[in-house]
Amino acid sequence: MPNNVELRVVGCGDAFGSGGQFQSCFLINDLNGTLAVDFGARSLIALRACGLDQQVIDQIVLTHFHEDHMGGLPFFLLDREYVARVDAPLRIMGPRGLAKRLQDMTEVMCPGVWKKTWRFHLDLIEIDPDRPVQVGDRCILSKTVRHPTGPFEATALRVETCGKVIAFSGDTGWVDALYDIAADSDLFVCECFNYEEQPYGGHLSLPVLLSKLPDIQFRRILLNHLGPEMLANRMSAPFETLADGAIYAI
Ligand SMILES: [Zn+2]
Ligand SMILES: [Zn+2]
Repeated sequence: MPNNVELRVVGCGDAFGSGGQFQSCFLINDLNGTLAVDFGARSLIALRACGLDQQVIDQIVLTHFHEDHMGGLPFFLLDREYVARVDAPLRIMGPRGLAKRLQDMTEVMCPGVWKKTWRFHLDLIEIDPDRPVQVGDRCILSKTVRHPTGPFEATALRVETCGKVIAFSGDTGWVDALYDIAADSDLFVCECFNYEEQPYGGHLSLPVLLSKLPDIQFRRILLNHLGPEMLANRMSAPFETLADGAIYAI
């Protein structure tokens, strides 16, 4: 079935707003609804800038617990409860420790608002790496990557839905797990924070991608999470780079 899956870029920027881009948030629209991948601190604003309301989202999956990938969830929950008043169930998935991390973050950002019972059914699923999770007709595989997140795992994700595969590197230095995550994917959304390799090994760089990507079969790659130097040199990269608001039919 052609073009039955769509990727919408709500935000593809780094943690620091480089290039004026919003933080990480992607929507996978398929025949089952809409899955958000990551929800950064300003993603609710970014969603509205796309002309969308949160009602469109029925599932969210997080790559890791940095604020540029999950910091918008407290606002998302509050909006869903008190402003948008959405009764539809919401499922949030992420690395192990998600439930406590989400509650702690919400309490830090908005003390006293965490609720045991929301007006909508909130289903929190912690994903074990290397064990595919089947959620409805979507299958999500996570693999541990190399990115400092304290006691928690940072992960790359492989989402299979409606016969299509969309892979997300998440934030990471190079790990061979990306071979499995991105193999035969229709779209590979891959971070490239650094234009040149840096001593800090928690992000990918253009030289590393140039050396590793020829070994992966994918239909199309889109670079995201570009840092300032990478943004300034994006035209020299032999790969497509993302921009907020872009929509890709898969
Ligand atoms: Zn990030
Ligand atoms: Zn990060």
